[in-house]
Amino acid sequence: MRIAMISEHASPLAVLGEEDAGGQNTHVAELAAALVGEGHDVRVYTRRDSTSLPESVSTPDGYQVCHVPAGPACRVPKDQLLAYMGEFGRWLADRWRHGDWRPEVAHAHFWMSGLATVHAGRRTGVPVVLTYHALGTVKRRHQGARDTSPPGRAGYERALGRAVDRVIVQCADEVGELVRMGVPRSRMALVPSGVNQGVFRPDGPAAPRDPARPRILTVGRLVERKGFLEVVRALPAAPDAECVVVGGPPADLLPADAFARRLRALAESCGVADRVRLIGGVPREEMSRWYRSADVLVAAPWYEPFGLTPLEAMACAVPVIGTNVGGIADTVVDGLTGDLVPPRDPRALGRAIRRLLADKLRRFAYATAALDRIRSRYSWKRCAQQLGAVYAAVATAARPAPAVA
Ligand code: UDP
Repeated sequence: MRIAMISEHASPLAVLGEEDAGGQNTHVAELAAALVGEGHDVRVYTRRDSTSLPESVSTPDGYQVCHVPAGPACRVPKDQLLAYMGEFGRWLADRWRHGDWRPEVAHAHFWMSGLATVHAGRRTGVPVVLTYHALGTVKRRHQGARDTSPPGRAGYERALGRAVDRVIVQCADEVGELVRMGVPRSRMALVPSGVNQGVFRPDGPAAPRDPARPRILTVGRLVERKGFLEVVRALPAAPDAECVVVGGPPADLLPADAFARRLRALAESCGVADRVRLIGGVPREEMSRWYRSADVLVAAPWYEPFGLTPLEAMACAVPVIGTNVGGIADTVVDGLTGDLVPPRDPRALGRAIRRLLADKLRRFAYATAALDRIRSRYSWKRCAQQLGAVYAAVATAARPAPAVA
């Protein structure tokens, strides 16, 4: 099939770990590659956020990335992009109507892409599938007044749930949220993300470490909701361990990062500063080295729409201690492939870390079961096949293109 993927702020070509670049970029890149592997013709549309970007790029994985001129050709925080989604949608509609490539289905990632894609879909008859990746209602619940999303986000998300042909949900928790928002259950398909098991695997080089000191790894964008502060607060419970934090701006820019400074100050006041190492953001291809160097991955977000890092660690045979939220509650099986603890509870987290670091046999058992779980359930190939079936179903049911715009 000819498949368009729309990811307005998250380019599959971006460097990860910075404020607006994380799981969605990886998701779109891996999914596009896996769909090509299934024989599909895939184009990814993302906003042109630099004057140096060409109109389109062919990737080694066989999909094309098209840079859409919508808004200024510079970095704009994603929460300020709403104003350009009309322009984005009109550009798509124009290309699909008059260009030489018209998709049979368009898969939008994130609600703002959803708005642009529904606009284009209405004008061209192309059916639309949407993955939210994150929900405004959940963000608002956890971040309150600190949530910088545009006003009206929750309303747009609710409307989108009824306007698109299918909503792809990534975990059971999201199904519940969407049902509460009034999205019909019949419109949802549950297709969890995958993990690249060629890259994230147990064998291969590992980042250097002190063999005498247990290593806790924690990974993600340096934002409060990812739970790094709680990990630092839990550290006194594991007196020998070092905590390596991967993510955020590159190492040379870390000193200027406000959250990194806050993390360091907290580590000082908890008396663990000598055991906390901030690495900064690293390129995607270096991530597996960091996982392999760790005894445990701690993923302690307050909430998590899906959460790729636990899957990546599990694929590297590293046990996970995660908070019992969002996708982590589906991917980590408590007491079998890892431990689940309540969010924002450094005491419970500290106890779980101390217990697991003291029990090599349990770590080994978790790692083995985690690897089995990844191999049987979480490949991008499986994800692409399941989505392929959804795309085929919506394309078959699609309405003919309207004669006039
Ligand atoms: N990541 C990376 N370099 C970093 C930090 C993170 O490549 O320095 C990747 C990580 O391997 C994962 C993604 O960024 O693939 C983060 O995804 P996740 O779903 O855990 O969180 P999100 O950022 O989407 O909230």
